[in-house]
Amino acid sequence: MKNILISLFSAVLLTSCATVNYSYDGRAFKNSLESITQDDLKKNLYVIASDEMEGRNTGSAGQKKAGEYIIKQYREMGVSHPTLMSSYYQNVPADFLNAKRGKGLPDSENILAFIEGSEKSNEIIVISAHYDHVGTQNGVVYNGADDDGSGTVAVMEIAEAFQKAKKAGHGPKRSMLFLHVTGEEHGLLGSDYYSQNPVFPLANTVSNLNIDMIGRCDPENCGKDYVYVIGSAMLSSELKKINEEANSKTAKMFLNYKYDQPNDPQRLYYRSDHYNFAKHNIPVAFFFDGIHEDYHKPTDDADKIDYEALQKRTQLVFATAWELANRKDRIVVDGKNDR
Ligand SMILES: [Zn+2]
Repeated sequence: MKNILISLFSAVLLTSCATVNYSYDGRAFKNSLESITQDDLKKNLYVIASDEMEGRNTGSAGQKKAGEYIIKQYREMGVSHPTLMSSYYQNVPADFLNAKRGKGLPDSENILAFIEGSEKSNEIIVISAHYDHVGTQNGVVYNGADDDGSGTVAVMEIAEAFQKAKKAGHGPKRSMLFLHVTGEEHGLLGSDYYSQNPVFPLANTVSNLNIDMIGRCDPENCGKDYVYVIGSAMLSSELKKINEEANSKTAKMFLNYKYDQPNDPQRLYYRSDHYNFAKHNIPVAFFFDGIHEDYHKPTDDADKIDYEALQKRTQLVFATAWELANRKDRIVVDGKNDR
């Protein structure tokens, strides 16, 4: 009787620990959240957006060098590629890259890193950012620190935060795919290729959080603590609420929905990599800082990034991903892509 009581007691204790540890107030979450630091983001961004990477044009030697650096970081944090793949690379062939615009791009690669879920491993959360930029023009390197070096380093830092939780015994319950896509600047090509050749079934892909430019501010919002969130209310009535809850527990920023209004002339919902998931009815949220003076200019450099803003926005995406990965039920799909 005594033994039964003790094991019953420890079972209750274990269950409640598990619950507490996955909540936003739990140690596991807080330790991971705090591991997303300005120093790490800065260190990686100064490499990704350095002249050595030659502006990371799709298929260029500079982009491949950036890709090697990204993979080296995953190796160091102990995060591998999906087990179904023989490396981190998903080859995106030149034929595919040139089918629409015929720009003579060479073969390029998406880069995939993966943390397997502990309970619902066949359900996938995708965190994405494009690592290509517009290259070098007339001898001038377009470093693309914000576009999309900022998203690239954010995705790596989010992976590291999940890996930290996993090492402490609180890994994500669903699986996490960290997807660095190529060819965005030439028409969302890498994400299009992935959605046509998914490594995991799209039916099991629960959500995509996409990051494209989160290290600067636009003239309308400079000085404010903000991020534009786009598309979070479109396909799932739950995703926007989850993102808002994550924000209230962590970054506490102003979530700007300007580009999320029906009939917004910019139509940004359709214009970055997340749409290649949304068009397959996978709920998405897109995180963005707006259009600023250095957008697609050679002056989009690492020394102009607001690292505090970059950290906060990265932490917000991490917190949203944490809930998507660990909540009991996968989020519902109850909306439509049409405005
Ligand atoms: Zn971009």
